[in-house]
Amino acid sequence: LRGKRRLMLEIKNLQATINNKTILKGLNLTIKPGELHAMMGPNGSGKSTLANVLSGKNGYEISGEINFRGENLKKIPVEERAQKGIFLAFQYPLEIPGVNTNNFLKTSLNSIRKSKGEKELDTLAFLKLVREKSSELGIDEKILSRQLNVGFSGGEKKKNEILQMKILNPSLSILDETDSGLDIDALKIVAKGVNSSRNDKKSFLVITHYQRLLDYIKPDFVHVLSDGKIIKTGCGELAEEL
Ligand code: ADP
Ligand code: MG
Repeated sequence: LRGKRRLMLEIKNLQATINNKTILKGLNLTIKPGELHAMMGPNGSGKSTLANVLSGKNGYEISGEINFRGENLKKIPVEERAQKGIFLAFQYPLEIPGVNTNNFLKTSLNSIRKSKGEKELDTLAFLKLVREKSSELGIDEKILSRQLNVGFSGGEKKKNEILQMKILNPSLSILDETDSGLDIDALKIVAKGVNSSRNDKKSFLVITHYQRLLDYIKPDFVHVLSDGKIIKTGCGELAEEL
């Protein structure tokens, strides 16, 4: 166990099936603290399924091992995974009418703080934090007083995911095609959000379809997923080769 604790994530022979379709077919992946892994691969190869399975989305039949900081992740329900430091930025962020964006962020943060026995932030302290993080990312604060993702542009939705990541400060961030559909300025903001969060304790799994993001985010490892399996792994240069 002591050795395993030094790993952020260890996936062994992961298989995932939903609606009688086996999508992940024996996936192995090890991520250490401080590492950023890029996961590339064609549409339909299982990238989002991997992200969903790690974040605890229901409905998958799973076999194989998933250890997160030495703990069997399969036994941990979705809300506890978030409390334990797993964060997923969705490929398609949901619009949630009636939920104010600021309140959503504050409630998420406070539920994580509470689970760790930390004091909840009051409105003032939270606003200070959210102002600091949104200005760091160049996000217009006005969107934060609106309903979550409702009427946000594609770029605003993705930037909002990154803001959420900055505020929740997770140990393992999984970004599912956060770069898709972004213009170059929004892409740079996303990259800046990731790069400014990197340190030797945090890990990232950055799922991307395009090499473009990797001009701004330098991965330690690049994997290629195809038909539910990693078929190639290399260092940062692999993305350029592809
Ligand atoms: P990627 O993110 O790499 O594009 P996905 O993980 O979204 O791929 O999907 C992988 C494959 O699994 C696709 O063929 C997709 O249609 C299928 N799939 C995903 N979710 C489901 C589901 N809930 N039921 C049936 N098939 C699914
Ligand atoms: Mg996908």
